[in-house]
Amino acid sequence: MPLNPGRTIAELKELRSFTANENGAQRVAFTKTWVETRAWLWKKLEGLPVETHIDSAGNLWSTLRGKTEKALLIGGHMDSVPNGGWLDGCLNVLAGLEILRRINEQYHGQPPVTVRLVDWADEEGARFGKSLFGSSACSGNLDMNEARALKDKDGITLPDALKVIGIDFDCVKDSGKELKNAVAYLELHIEQGPVLLDLGLPLGAVLGTFGVERHAITFRGQAAHSGSTPMNRRRDAFLAAAKMSPEIYRIAERSNGGVCTIGSCTTKPGIVTSVVEECRITLDQRHLDAPALARMLQEAREASERFAREGNVRVSWERLWQIEPVLFDPQLIDFCSEAIKETCGKIHRLPSGPLHDAAEVARSRVPTVMMFVQSLHGISHNKIEDTKEEHLELCVAAFDKLAEKAIRWIT
Ligand SMILES: [Zn+2]
Repeated sequence: MPLNPGRTIAELKELRSFTANENGAQRVAFTKTWVETRAWLWKKLEGLPVETHIDSAGNLWSTLRGKTEKALLIGGHMDSVPNGGWLDGCLNVLAGLEILRRINEQYHGQPPVTVRLVDWADEEGARFGKSLFGSSACSGNLDMNEARALKDKDGITLPDALKVIGIDFDCVKDSGKELKNAVAYLELHIEQGPVLLDLGLPLGAVLGTFGVERHAITFRGQAAHSGSTPMNRRRDAFLAAAKMSPEIYRIAERSNGGVCTIGSCTTKPGIVTSVVEECRITLDQRHLDAPALARMLQEAREASERFAREGNVRVSWERLWQIEPVLFDPQLIDFCSEAIKETCGKIHRLPSGPLHDAAEVARSRVPTVMMFVQSLHGISHNKIEDTKEEHLELCVAAFDKLAEKAIRWIT
């Protein structure tokens, strides 16, 4: 049996031993620890007959040449957030490494199709506040003007940080040529939420990533003395904004699978002795289905206008950010479900709330699917992030079955 999921767990622990401290993983992209992480991975790959290089955007590609140039891609990211967990991103890459070993052994160094492992650069965006850098450069979706202006907390720009590791910012989109022969992309990831945990299931097939509508909503009333203004004479911007809070729960419930979050609330003048004149809240809405997402947004707008009328205040909306839902490939979702069923008997299909590099690959029209493995506590981006070792072994085994199904599909 050439596949050895136990080795993946041992390698994850080895990685943790030199990239984490008492606060968690410290593999932030473009830092010294990240460079050391890459060197460690490169050394592991040297045990295989692969060709490894860094592309124009800083992504690492390792290629096992097959009988055709058509390529199966397996991806992940070695970078972490500061004080991150031991699995987010690197589980994907190290499971991919183990699968490369199995494929190499089974096909004596020449599989029916080319198989490529990719470690995307700066998935987390922890330093510059913009995630999916390497994969969005590769897919061509990176906004160059926005990215050029990004600065870290020390004022260093993204182009300058890239220069240090030998990357020319103006050429990052040349990375797109790496997708030339790609015919399928697979990504394993910890769920980072509690859905599989609550269902008592180890693995899930991912349908796609949520579309997002993100807005600031500002209610404007009138400041007035808290002692001298009778309750019926107030134009209280906070009252109108506060009614949005229970309303978004009703909107989400009606939406069949969507989520809504009011993540911030600021008031003016913001003093204890005044009715609130201006209240600004932010609303983040997500759904896998584009019409359902549009409906959630419409319902929130209508509710805000109703609450504004009721309170004799005004309301205005400003879009902060938006992305369409990204749906994964139906055939690969079926293969993923079969692989999970063969490994642990039960399947579940679920959307992904967070964005992943896989969404960028799917947006560049390469058939894509992700597999999720259960997260203990449903928590990630935290040192307590964890998954049972038996589930880690199952996910490597199931992901390997998915890779084999994809190879046969492509051939
Ligand atoms: Zn991740």
